[in-house]
Amino acid sequence: MTDIPKSHPRYQSLVLREKLVEGFGSGLVVPQGLIAHGRGEMFDYLIGERTTKEARAASRAAAATILKAKRPVISVNGNVAALCPSEVAELAVAADARIEVGLFHRTDERVRKIQKTLEDHGAEDVLGFLPDAAIPGLDHLRALCSREGIFSADVVLIPLEDGDRAEALAKMGKKTVAIDLNPMSRTSRNSTVSIVDEVTRAIPELRKNVEDLDGDAKGIKNAISSYDRDENLAMVMKAMSERLGKLKER
Ligand code: ATP
Ligand code: MG
Repeated sequence: MTDIPKSHPRYQSLVLREKLVEGFGSGLVVPQGLIAHGRGEMFDYLIGERTTKEARAASRAAAATILKAKRPVISVNGNVAALCPSEVAELAVAADARIEVGLFHRTDERVRKIQKTLEDHGAEDVLGFLPDAAIPGLDHLRALCSREGIFSADVVLIPLEDGDRAEALAKMGKKTVAIDLNPMSRTSRNSTVSIVDEVTRAIPELRKNVEDLDGDAKGIKNAISSYDRDENLAMVMKAMSERLGKLKER
């Protein structure tokens, strides 16, 4: 990794870039993933590169939704595996969820590498290598999934998911929890719960909320009933435009 001085004002952001570049070098990340990250960075800039109160509320609702699930699954792609594999493994333990590699640009080799990275960071029994089912409505490779995992899941956590796959999962009647910095993406607008936050901040926050709400039936109920996705996304967009207004005044 390139040496990044901790004092650099964009230290965190540069570290994430380095992780993706490294992941690209080792075959976890595809070039398209680097571009998708750039789109995410732009939105992160607009929310101030921190977990907003809207993201915290969405994260509580997400944790509650996952705790109520019978078969929760975390779908992991190359960017997520390159950025925060240990955090995904820890969330899976806290939420008693399966992990499945779900790729838009699928090759067996990349699935294998992502699976190995996750397992090297503590994840167990990662699914996705030998798909035996398909998500209806998607073309061949994009549809592939595991019967034991995503296909029969009732709640799927989809960090950085493509809009088409997110919609197809919703059409199967599943609840989806998105982590996506773009409040306007189809993924954000079509998921049951949408957390607008950077994935390396969002996953640990979600784990904390899962641990906190576990066994607290009243807390779970409150977190869900007080969350309204469209209202939450509208507040995020308002905060972004207010921040732009302030930057303009300076
Ligand atoms: P959609 O297809 O859902 O309408 P999109 O085209 O913006 O939206 P994709 O390019 O398919 O989405 O997927 C990438 C999404 O992931 C982007 O919306 C981007 O904002 C988001 N993203 C990228 N990197 C991160 C990250 N590190 N943390 C959170 N979100 C991210
Ligand atoms: Mg898209």
